[in-house]
Amino acid sequence: MLAKFSYQRTSTIKEATAAAAQPETRILAGGTDLLGCLRDGVFQADRLVSINGIKDLTGIRPRPGGGLRIGALTTLTELAESRQILDSYPVLAQAAAAVGSPQLRNQGTLGGNLCQRPRCWYFRGDFHCLRKGGDQCFASAGQNQLHCIFGGYECFMVHPSDTAPALVALDAKVTVTGRRGARQMPLASFFVLPKTSLVKENVLEPGDVLTEVLLDAPQPGTRSMYRKVRERASFDFALAGAAIVLSMAEGKVRTARVVLSGVAPAPWRSPEAEQSLVGKPLDAATAEAAATAAVKPSVPLAENAYKVPLVRGILEETLLALAV
Ligand SMILES: Cc1cc2nc3c(=O)[nH]c(=O)nc-3n(C[C@H](O)[C@H](O)[C@H](O)COP(=O)(O)OP(=O)(O)OC[C@H]3O[C@@H](n4cnc5c(N)ncnc54)[C@H](O)[C@@H]3O)c2cc1C
Repeated sequence: MLAKFSYQRTSTIKEATAAAAQPETRILAGGTDLLGCLRDGVFQADRLVSINGIKDLTGIRPRPGGGLRIGALTTLTELAESRQILDSYPVLAQAAAAVGSPQLRNQGTLGGNLCQRPRCWYFRGDFHCLRKGGDQCFASAGQNQLHCIFGGYECFMVHPSDTAPALVALDAKVTVTGRRGARQMPLASFFVLPKTSLVKENVLEPGDVLTEVLLDAPQPGTRSMYRKVRERASFDFALAGAAIVLSMAEGKVRTARVVLSGVAPAPWRSPEAEQSLVGKPLDAATAEAAATAAVKPSVPLAENAYKVPLVRGILEETLLALAV
C-alpha cells in the first residue's frame, strides 16, 4: 500500500531544485519506477516533486555546432522513434526500444531511466540490505544468478538501465542542476560504483535534477549497435547486453567504445575489448579476441558464471553484425 505523501507540481527548474532539496523528497518524472518503489516500501517519501510541467526539460533539439540536446523528460518511445536518433545514433534508439513494454516506454522518461533504482530482488524485497542502510548484502551468499560479474564490492547489484550503456558508449554528457547552479559531466562519471557508495548509484545530491543529455555529432564512418539478452522477450531487464560504437577508416577499426549492461553496478566500459579492436579489420578473429579480452577480468558469483560466455557471445555477435 502507498504511504501518504504530499505532491507538488513545478513549472521551472529553479522551483524544482528548491522543492526537491527538502528532506524526504523525491523527484517524480514518469513514475514507472518511483511509484513501484513507494508502493512496495523499498523506501518512503514525505513529498513528491513532479517535474512533468517543466517545458525546458522536454524535446530533442540540434546543438549549435552539431550533435543533439535531449531533454530529461523525453520519453523512451520518442527516443526509439526519433528520425534523428535512428539515423545518427542507432545504438540509442535500439536501447530505448529494448526497455520494458510499449506502455513503460510511453510513460518512462530518459532522466528516470538513468536515475532508476536497482532491481536486485533483495533490495526490492523485505531485506534491510546494505543499499538500504543495513549491514549485509543478501545476494553475496544468496540467490545471485542475476547479479554482477564486474565491479562488485560488498554490494553486487547490476545497473538496470538500457539507455545508460548506449549513452556511455556515445560518450554523452549530462547536465545536472542543483541549488548552486548547473554542472556538466560525462555520463560515465555520473554513475558511482559500490566502492564509492553503497547507498547511491549516481552523484545526485538532494535537490539535483538531471536536466539534459548532450550528444556530439557522430564521427564519419561511425557504426553502432545495442544488443540485449533477457529471460522473457516481451519485457524484461538485461541478463547481459552490449552497446558498441565504432568508427572505421580504411577497413580497420579507428576508435571503439564497448559498454556492457546487466553485468555490473554501473554501465561497464571494457577497455580490454576496446584496445583489442583498435587498428584491426572487423572480422571473426578480431571479434573473438575482443570478446575474450572483455570477459577476462570478470569475477562471477556462485550462481552467475553463465554470464561470462553470455557476454562473450553477445560481444562476438554484435561485432560481427557491425562488420557487414
Ligand atoms: C515491469 C517493468 C519493466 C521495466 N523494464 C525495464 C527495462 O527493460 N530496461 C530499463 O532500462 N528499465 C526498465 N524499467 C524501469 C523504468 O520503467 C524505466 O527505466 C523508466 O525509464 C523510468 O523512467 P520514469 O520517468 O518512469 O522514472 P520515475 O519512476 O519517475 O523515476 C525513477 C527515479 O529517477 C528519479 N528521477 C527521475 N527523473 C529525474 C531527473 N530528471 N533528475 C533526477 N532524478 C530523476 C526519481 O526520483 C526516481 O528515483 C522497467 C520498469 C518496470 C516497472
